[in-house]
Amino acid sequence: AKEGGRNDWRIFSPSMNVESFKQYHLERDLRKSIINEELYVHYQPKVNPKTSKIVGAEALVRWNHPEWGIVSPGEFIPLAEENGFIFKIGDWVLKDVCETLAQWQKQGIPVVPVSVNVSPKRLLKTDFVKTVQQTIHEAGIEPMLIELELTEQTIIKNTEATKNIITELKALGVKIALDDFGTGYSSLSYLKDLDIDTLKIDKSFIDGITLESTNDAIVKSLIFLSKEIDINIVAEGVETKEQLTFLLQQECQQIQGYIYSRPVSETRLESLLKKEVIQ
Ligand code: C2E
Ligand code: CA
Ligand code: CA
Ligand code: CA
Repeated sequence: AKEGGRNDWRIFSPSMNVESFKQYHLERDLRKSIINEELYVHYQPKVNPKTSKIVGAEALVRWNHPEWGIVSPGEFIPLAEENGFIFKIGDWVLKDVCETLAQWQKQGIPVVPVSVNVSPKRLLKTDFVKTVQQTIHEAGIEPMLIELELTEQTIIKNTEATKNIITELKALGVKIALDDFGTGYSSLSYLKDLDIDTLKIDKSFIDGITLESTNDAIVKSLIFLSKEIDINIVAEGVETKEQLTFLLQQECQQIQGYIYSRPVSETRLESLLKKEVIQ
């Protein structure tokens, strides 16, 4: 079969394993996923552990494939990044989030800022800032309700260009978060050079809390640092009571993890927002 976008040829053979068979179909069908309305957005609350109040949410895309069922982003985002369809997916997610927020505001639901993941390549495409501006404007929401999550990978790649784009985005009024912090070969100097609002401590550090003293020290230092330089901090992937207790002791401002909530549907987040507190 000929692949539309890339002019390469793939041949099926009976020896092809199930995984690559699936990947082949997913990659082929990705292009139709938006038109066929198979994509949807789940939201994972970010919680202030002191008050149990929902203070934000992260938008996480899902794909309901007609044959394979619900496919996790861990499976199809890499394919989309490879074939370039990630640009369309990313723009679609942002639009859906902005429209949802606008609708909630119209209904008088107390909304919280929502963060949207930005693929590394998207940021550097020329129309990115304009697309963000237009999407927010057309939905009619305040830009500060949108936070863009960039990974270290994005920032390492092209520092000067990235820096300029972040400056332009900040001028629009959107917030910027640094996702998966600590997983790349990052240096803390990014925090000095770039105007970042939020640091998200990667789950791998949270996993090690109370198990490895080095992890405790790293997480402690990051929380301390965030207060010193006055940026927001989110601990990601918090699952256990022990981890939560430790983070409360360190006065970590925001918690995102299964301990409070898995990513939930739009409707479910809506009812959580009406209650304002979780549990
Ligand atoms: P991420 O941006 O690091 O998102 C956090 C992931 O960790 C989510 O997985 C979330 O469900 C999971 N998670 C949160 N708390 C816990 C916890 O306590 N325990 C465990 N085990 N997992 C937890 P998800 O939704 O499967 O997304 C995976 C990745 O796919 C995301 O990682 C992100 O890199 C990517 N992704 C998701 N949606 C989008 C999108 O709209 N655009 C782009 N470019 N990437 C996306
Ligand atoms: Ca919607
Ligand atoms: Ca993220
Ligand atoms: Ca993350």
